[in-house]
Amino acid sequence: MNSMSNELIQLSAAKLSEKLVKKEVSALEVTKAHLDRIEEVDPAIHAFLHVSTEALKVAGEVDGARRLGAKLNPLAGVPVAIKDVLCTMDMPSTAGSKILEGWVPPYDATVVKRLRDARLVPIGKTNMDEFAMGSSTEHSAYGPTKNPWDLERIPGGSGGGSAAAVAAFEVPLALGSDTGGSIRQPAAVTGTVGMKPTYGGVSRYGAIALASSLDQVGPVARSVLDAAMLHDVIGGHDPKDSTSLNESWSSFTEAAKEGAKADSLKGLKIGVVKELGGEGFQKGVSDRFAAVCELLAATGAEIVEVSAPSFAYAIAAYYLILPAEASSNLAKFDSVRFGLRVNPPGGGTVEQVMSATREAGFGPEVKRRIILGTYALSAGYYDAYYGSAQKVRTLVQRDFQSAFGKADLLISPSAPTTAFKFGEKLEDPLAMYLNDVTTIPANLAGIPGLGLPMGLAEEDGLPTGLQVMAPAKADAKLYSFGATLEVLLKESSGELILQDSPLYPGANNASSANGGVK
Ligand code: GLN
Repeated sequence: MNSMSNELIQLSAAKLSEKLVKKEVSALEVTKAHLDRIEEVDPAIHAFLHVSTEALKVAGEVDGARRLGAKLNPLAGVPVAIKDVLCTMDMPSTAGSKILEGWVPPYDATVVKRLRDARLVPIGKTNMDEFAMGSSTEHSAYGPTKNPWDLERIPGGSGGGSAAAVAAFEVPLALGSDTGGSIRQPAAVTGTVGMKPTYGGVSRYGAIALASSLDQVGPVARSVLDAAMLHDVIGGHDPKDSTSLNESWSSFTEAAKEGAKADSLKGLKIGVVKELGGEGFQKGVSDRFAAVCELLAATGAEIVEVSAPSFAYAIAAYYLILPAEASSNLAKFDSVRFGLRVNPPGGGTVEQVMSATREAGFGPEVKRRIILGTYALSAGYYDAYYGSAQKVRTLVQRDFQSAFGKADLLISPSAPTTAFKFGEKLEDPLAMYLNDVTTIPANLAGIPGLGLPMGLAEEDGLPTGLQVMAPAKADAKLYSFGATLEVLLKESSGELILQDSPLYPGANNASSANGGVK
């Protein structure tokens, strides 16, 4: 890879945008540099399930439009990766499942259409746990994605592909989806930024549904400003999604830019959620979190402790609500309408074909959740399980309401540990589920949550993530605060950013043939 390509892949989307607008670089050059990087490192990382064959053509068209003086979105010409849970007309959309292998949807998800309208360059589809069920990408039917920081470790999940692609400088921006943490937890363990918007803030139309009352699509990036810029492109009302909020959102880009300029947090009350820390959290994660709290206090913020007792039941409630909704959403994979069809030997009835198809097409985690969900919804158990879980959901919402009465924003680590090794939690679904202890409450309440890097854990040198939560519709506050904190953290310690990653392009440790992959 030549030095110009090397420089281009290191740049943030905001910087690339500046260079593209000034015509210092072409969309074609930017896209080519990222495609080369993918070719170089993705055989080791496996962030992508599909790389677009159209990307260079699209980039060339953007350059053409720019030459003619067309008024373009600031991100026009910037490459973006798309989690494979989102429908794309020109690329297969498998949701990480065998049952959808090779399926090319007849329409684009609204968020994808908005990327195209803003003339970003879709560069490929990223790997994920099957139907977004998981915290490690080990449940992908196509093999796991590796964490760029250490190839023996998980990149988080379910959106490990998007996070790893961004962390490994294969692309500056990506889309993820977050039902219980699948944007924020991968961000934490890869040292990247990820945002779960307010429920209804970003369209779910064309996002292959996991649990419809929890799913939200959101941005993945290497900086808060980049995430904000991407959110501005994909967000806003969509008549095709009946749960989309008919709201006029202020500019998240402006919020992030303002935030980066603030040098004091005076007057801001920040709540530390007692239940989202302490026992069960890795020491290095807790230490970094304590350091962030000190930094915030030193910058004028008032740190208050808040308690949310119902959060103790959030995982339990989530693992009833999610499987219940998922079992209903996944009923459409019936071998008749689309996707895989497996005929039992000697043929069979419709039911037998359906059963053989699901047996072959769904992985073990998906089957587990479908069984859990249909059981929880069955007559006689519905009230005891699903009904109780919905009551807990209300309590979680009330706890948030009361916490936001005492603090403007709430913070916690985004994940209890740094990236764990492959296989460590695969045999124990409960251990895997516990990864989302800090992220699930925000999904149950529909509020926004931003994940950003908060430094490396002392004991293993791996990234840790901070989660910041705000009341529903206050997404802009998160971008503003996140951008302030990002500056503070960079000033206070140099260890936060991906420059320390073994995959940093051009770094001393990144010179070997496989891109410096350990
Ligand atoms: N890890 C969580 C789960 O397995 C979150 C998934 C998600 O957000 N899509 O359900």
